[in-house]
Amino acid sequence: MKAVVAKETGPPSVMTWTDMEPPRPARDECVVKVEACGACMHEVLVRRGDRAQGTGFPIIPGHEVVGEVVEVGADVVDFAVGDRVVSNQRQRVCGKCRECRMGRETRCPRKVFLGDIGLNGGYAELVAVSDGSLVKVPPRLTSPDVAIASCAIGTVLNALRDVARLELGETVLVTGAGGGIGLHAIQLAKASGARVVAQTTSPGKVEAVREAGADEILLVERGADYSKNVMEVTDGQGCDIVLENVGAVSFLSSVNTLALHGRLVLIGEVQRTPPTVEADLVGWRGRDISILSAASTTKRQLEDVLTLMDRGLVTPVVTDTLPMSEAPRAHEILESGSVTGRILLVPDTA
Ligand SMILES: [Zn+2]
Ligand SMILES: [Zn+2]
Repeated sequence: MKAVVAKETGPPSVMTWTDMEPPRPARDECVVKVEACGACMHEVLVRRGDRAQGTGFPIIPGHEVVGEVVEVGADVVDFAVGDRVVSNQRQRVCGKCRECRMGRETRCPRKVFLGDIGLNGGYAELVAVSDGSLVKVPPRLTSPDVAIASCAIGTVLNALRDVARLELGETVLVTGAGGGIGLHAIQLAKASGARVVAQTTSPGKVEAVREAGADEILLVERGADYSKNVMEVTDGQGCDIVLENVGAVSFLSSVNTLALHGRLVLIGEVQRTPPTVEADLVGWRGRDISILSAASTTKRQLEDVLTLMDRGLVTPVVTDTLPMSEAPRAHEILESGSVTGRILLVPDTA
């Protein structure tokens, strides 16, 4: 088979489309013939060596796979050859530890992130994935865009529903609204009955933000304080939830937009500079706000995303599809920050 292999950290050009031994399934794994794999900022950080957890090179990157099961390990009972499946970000969750038993399998100590360590990721013609991290795709969802269900949509479902406990009628601020996470956050918040305020720094992304369903769009310069704008469009109330997917640059503005009992959920790890916030902002001014974080997607959350997609309540936004041999170009586009929505990679042979 062929796969995109990065032998070491470095610029996009360290990734080459190379001949490889095809993967063999472990007892609990399925080998999936990849139809498409999302290209995510996570892989850019991995490739650069910017992940705090470190990376074991060489790697085949990629964790957002859709494809067809072509071989199953001896212990696999839930999947058969021919099933069309989508992958979760995290693999080899044990199902037995305290975190797994609490339904918090994304924090299972045995988990590995697909494509972070070793030659096991989805930028390939074939990939072996543990059965606990696969979900069957409903038959009506025929588009390869379903590949991004876990990362770009499931992470947001995790953040809004299960971490921030979004309630019907609340107001949600989405920062970085024109990116792959932001556009799906707007859709999910609207599907949950929220009013959505969307913040973006890119005039070119405003139309996509509007199409995703935002009620208010704030076009602000990078690094500018937008809390006053948010207060204006919310009649001085602020937002019940902030989905913060930019990081340190906008963190303080975001905290300042929170309403009484507001919850800020930080997702993604695009910047490594930790945001600084004075403790008295969090509660001592009588707002009782919460600062939370969410990462990745459980199997149940991924199943729920597919149900929402099947009902037409959320639609994956894919703006570019490139052959896998052009993975370096996909990363250059991601690093430029110019992309609206997500990029898909498809095997050159497909
Ligand atoms: Zn576990
Ligand atoms: Zn991702």
